Amino acid sequence: IGSGEQDEEIDRDAFTPGIEPQPTWCPGCGDFGVLKALKGAMPEVGRSPDETLLVTGIGCSGKLSSYFDSYGMHSIHGRSLPVARAAKLANPDLEVIAAGGDGDGYGIGGNHFMHTARENHDMTYIVFNNEIFGLTKGQTSPTSPKGHKSKTQPHGSAKDPVRPLSMSLSAGASYIARTAAVNPRQATEIITEAIEHDGFAHIDFLTQCPTWNKDAKQYVPYTDVQQSEDYDFDVTDRREAAEIMHETEDKLHEGEVLTGRFYVDENRHSYGQEKRSTGEMPEEPLAERYFDEDYEWE
Ligand code: SF4
Repeated sequence: IGSGEQDEEIDRDAFTPGIEPQPTWCPGCGDFGVLKALKGAMPEVGRSPDETLLVTGIGCSGKLSSYFDSYGMHSIHGRSLPVARAAKLANPDLEVIAAGGDGDGYGIGGNHFMHTARENHDMTYIVFNNEIFGLTKGQTSPTSPKGHKSKTQPHGSAKDPVRPLSMSLSAGASYIARTAAVNPRQATEIITEAIEHDGFAHIDFLTQCPTWNKDAKQYVPYTDVQQSEDYDFDVTDRREAAEIMHETEDKLHEGEVLTGRFYVDENRHSYGQEKRSTGEMPEEPLAERYFDEDYEWE
């Protein structure tokens, strides 16, 4: 895995499986936008399929690894991050991407999200946020707005939704952005940046679910906070980032969609870098030991 040798120019078709069926997502699903943006980002990053691992959780979003031709693992509900962490620590040369839905990542796997961000593991985490559990047919999710009616909350959710960006910042992620499936150019740029970032890069990716969340916003029109003159803040300043994130999360449920980069810390070491700098982990990929018949395990 991860030879590091690139003989040919990489294009997005390199990540399209030759024998897989077409995606089974519903027409109009925002998940198509994530797949397109991810395929568009990989040539920009310059990593080939054999240098890339995509780990997904369970849900409509979990199918992403079936439609993306790289090393892949369709893992278990809420657990894509521990699998991704282990793979990255065993082979730091591998480009590791984890993905899942808002229920998978912010609910069932919320604990893993918090600690992967806290430890700043070097990977990209894409959360398909459609404010609903889609695959299981429309239950309320952690990002469903207060008052949202579903089969599980027929009288409307009594709970305020989680705040993914603020949660990520307070936990310790070193790159935090929000984009939307309706904005493919920005989505591609943000995924590219996130993959190139050394540390835990979290993307809250707004994806509409026209089948089970018909009342939900389609996330248009949106405002790119880096393009708008109404927003002027320093993405490297934690306090300013916290303020703009809070405003962004409030406005989403008031009908205004803010997207863009909200926080970037290029100086903090990733978990793997820390472990290697103290000698607790070897410089060479641990994975090599498993293939070394002469290696003597202690
Ligand atoms: Fe997409 Fe919703 Fe259909 Fe799932 S149920 S594929 S999230 S539109």
